[in-house]
Amino acid sequence: MKNAKRVVIALIVAVSLFSIHQASAWGVLGHRTIAQIAENYLTPEAKAATEKYLNASLPSVALWMDRTASWTKKRKGHIPGYEQTSTWHTLVVDERYRVSSVQTPKGSGNLVPNLKMCIENLKNYRNLTDSAVVVNLKCVVHMVGDMHCPTHIYFLEFPDCFQSPKDANGKRTPARDRISVYFNGKKMTYHSFWDGVGITQIYPEYSKDYKYYAKAFDKASAKQRAKFCKGGIDEWVHDSAKSCRPVYNNVKAGDELDRDFILSYSKMTQRQCLKAGCRLAHILNECFK
Ligand SMILES: [Zn+2]
Repeated sequence: MKNAKRVVIALIVAVSLFSIHQASAWGVLGHRTIAQIAENYLTPEAKAATEKYLNASLPSVALWMDRTASWTKKRKGHIPGYEQTSTWHTLVVDERYRVSSVQTPKGSGNLVPNLKMCIENLKNYRNLTDSAVVVNLKCVVHMVGDMHCPTHIYFLEFPDCFQSPKDANGKRTPARDRISVYFNGKKMTYHSFWDGVGITQIYPEYSKDYKYYAKAFDKASAKQRAKFCKGGIDEWVHDSAKSCRPVYNNVKAGDELDRDFILSYSKMTQRQCLKAGCRLAHILNECFK
């Protein structure tokens, strides 16, 4: 725990340095929409605390974890702690959609324990330095979003859920989320499809304005929102995996995907963002009492 805390504290060095946008889980739009929904349901105490520490809104910091990755890659890995946090974006579930300790060959699949660690750190925020609170907070905001993104969940039920090792000819079978598909003639991995365009086509008239998306997605009653927040991280992962699993039903390498494909999952997508937002608010409200 001590080491992990040092990692997130070390990352604060880079907080103000990032301005690079990149495709990430749910993309910029999805992460910000989720953070906006969360902000709508913060208690006055949690709202005051997040504003005090971040000096910014939740949507404006929602991409921070992806930007550390992008920044580090472009500068060849000089951000201390990046190697640890780079594996915090994905998770692995077993055949019953329960959190698995199996990791991808690259060592990813670490979101769940690290999200739990950051939440525990935040519960103890009065004993942390301000910069440590900021980093833990930014990590929680991002990881709750990633946890609800379809291609950030690896399903052990698929033999090809991870990339295969090289065969005798040096070839690999790509992981199930890394198969190539086409959207509007553009080639991309299925992972990038969900990260980059999965949400943006639902309401093209909103031209990627997360505030409009948050309003459109946030249709749950207080009773429903309370139901979403029942249980804890493990139960939410189970629920999230079960809801996201159908995205692998009818897709194969080389498929041409269009807006109709996106709209066929639009109910799931909207629900996932809404649940993520409600659960993020619930976590922060519990931390900043
Ligand atoms: Zn991410």
